[in-house]
Amino acid sequence: MCGIVGYIGTQKASPILINGLIRLEYRGYDSAGISTIEKYGISIMKDKGRVKNLYNINGIEQLEGNIGIAHTRWATHGKPSKENSHPHMDNSKTFSVVHNGIIENYNELKKFLSDNGYHFYSQTDTEIIPNLVHYYYSKDNNNDDLKFLRAFKNACNKLIGSFAIEIICKDYPNNMLVVRKDSPLVIGKGENENYISSDIPAILSFTRNFYLLNDFEFVLLSRTDAKFYDKNLEPINKNTQTIEWNTASAEKEGFEDYMLKEIFEQPNAIRETIGAKFNENSKCEFDELNFSKDFLSDFNKIFIIGCGTAMHAGLAGKNAIEKLCKINTEVDIASEFRYRAPLVNEHTLCIFISQSGETADTIAALKLCKEKGAKTIAISNVIGSSITREADYSIYTHAGPEIAVASTKAYTSQVVLLVILAIYFAEILEINTNELSLLKKEILKLPKKIEDTLDLSSRIRDFSKTVYQEKDIFFLGRGIDETVAKEGSLKLKEISYIHSESYAAGELKHGPIALIENGVTVVGIMTDPKLVEKTISNLQEVITRGAKTFVITNQQVDNSMFDFIVYIPETSPFISPILSIIPLQLFSYYISKEKGLDVDKPRNLAKSVTVE
Ligand code: GLU
Repeated sequence: MCGIVGYIGTQKASPILINGLIRLEYRGYDSAGISTIEKYGISIMKDKGRVKNLYNINGIEQLEGNIGIAHTRWATHGKPSKENSHPHMDNSKTFSVVHNGIIENYNELKKFLSDNGYHFYSQTDTEIIPNLVHYYYSKDNNNDDLKFLRAFKNACNKLIGSFAIEIICKDYPNNMLVVRKDSPLVIGKGENENYISSDIPAILSFTRNFYLLNDFEFVLLSRTDAKFYDKNLEPINKNTQTIEWNTASAEKEGFEDYMLKEIFEQPNAIRETIGAKFNENSKCEFDELNFSKDFLSDFNKIFIIGCGTAMHAGLAGKNAIEKLCKINTEVDIASEFRYRAPLVNEHTLCIFISQSGETADTIAALKLCKEKGAKTIAISNVIGSSITREADYSIYTHAGPEIAVASTKAYTSQVVLLVILAIYFAEILEINTNELSLLKKEILKLPKKIEDTLDLSSRIRDFSKTVYQEKDIFFLGRGIDETVAKEGSLKLKEISYIHSESYAAGELKHGPIALIENGVTVVGIMTDPKLVEKTISNLQEVITRGAKTFVITNQQVDNSMFDFIVYIPETSPFISPILSIIPLQLFSYYISKEKGLDVDKPRNLAKSVTVE
């Protein structure tokens, strides 16, 4: 995972690098480091812990170099420590490297290098990279302008795994090289300067013009230029793309944390995602799709694939597609899907969901489906991200940058987009047309209803203060509400570290009810009028066994039996997750705050999971 930043230009590199790292810290935060080319050679300053620790390193203020690389780490190989922090150098201290990803064959390469006299000082897989580059560099007797690039290319061609790499060399003080494979990296073009970053928002305040890289494209950067080469070092042409996001949306804007800001941005995120796809009287249109009845009728199966929260959004998508379009739909966890020999062929449509568009497991599942002849649609929040470049078709949530590790506005935007996609399919297939116009009206009312739901914030904060010390919390729901129970439970785990489980409410009595004892908190979600009474009976069963209950509903129910109840606006069950998850996002948020935890950067997690 991790965040990478680079700068080459006329300004002092170190403040730009640290500023970029702070914005990328959501991607990894167990150690940080920067490397610049100074008059005396390559400097490396790094330490365990958060990016701000870099300010405590002696001499960091004195760095003058105008070219540098930087990294904030999410450790995969070797514990978080100063030695394992990036950047890493080769034995001769000629090269300095930062790396995002995993080198799967590092043991084999380490042995090869050790046999050739190289020594290693960290437990990382990364440290083999500068040494392997040095190995090829020292074997090349042609001292021309491209010697550094050749050595780097030869080394990268030996790497198996995923990587985004930046490298500098003391013999080439006016150049920097970068490459990526299955890990994100963008180049931002400025006036007499170039920026490198793992994501666009981190450097959006410096430039709006970006080069997007494909796998195994090498970039040779100087102050004024970016030259691109393919795997065999044949030159390639690339144009910049202009990014329209405003920088303010990547700032906290007065909110205490990104997560709270992003929860409150949901009315707008949903409004933007609905966009101009339909109005009350028109059919759904996607600018990016032009499907016909024949095309859609050819699919006898749909898979929706994602990880974590994105997979939970997929469950709401399945509900809508199966009920509205009558196409058999399965939701799968990307990391499982790949290895279970899924039955996919040219009559299968596969939909992949990833907020960042860089989720390694999801990208790998997408590649597998393409190999098997399926048609693929990517759903992402980031234009030009890897998943959107791999898929046959891409559609976008317009949630704006999501910085907090725990996803909120991306989830609700994914749900609304999937439901609109289901309507689009159903209209083309000419089924359920009466139901569709009602549903469309309800979707258009969502931004206002989200605002009304957000008004529950202070009541939920007060309730959270009564349960923040709990050890276990259970989430129950039936039908579409069970999908929200799953997402609510995940949110709570992620940021409060309270153990939680979610169950289909009717399943409780088949085992998990054994865990219910006096004082345990059980959250019940009930928004589907057809299932409310059944869920109430299941809650009654836990109340009888001493549980404390928190209920989220849009139905008129007898509230005297529950300890805490919040009423959310009524809406169609297809889109009810968008409203019913909001009290649960706030619940997790306030519990985490009450416990004094870092809401935006929960332990062990990172935002964009670019390793398998
Ligand atoms: N595998 C490398 C390490 O553990 C890079 C991890 C990352 O992407 O942060 O140092």
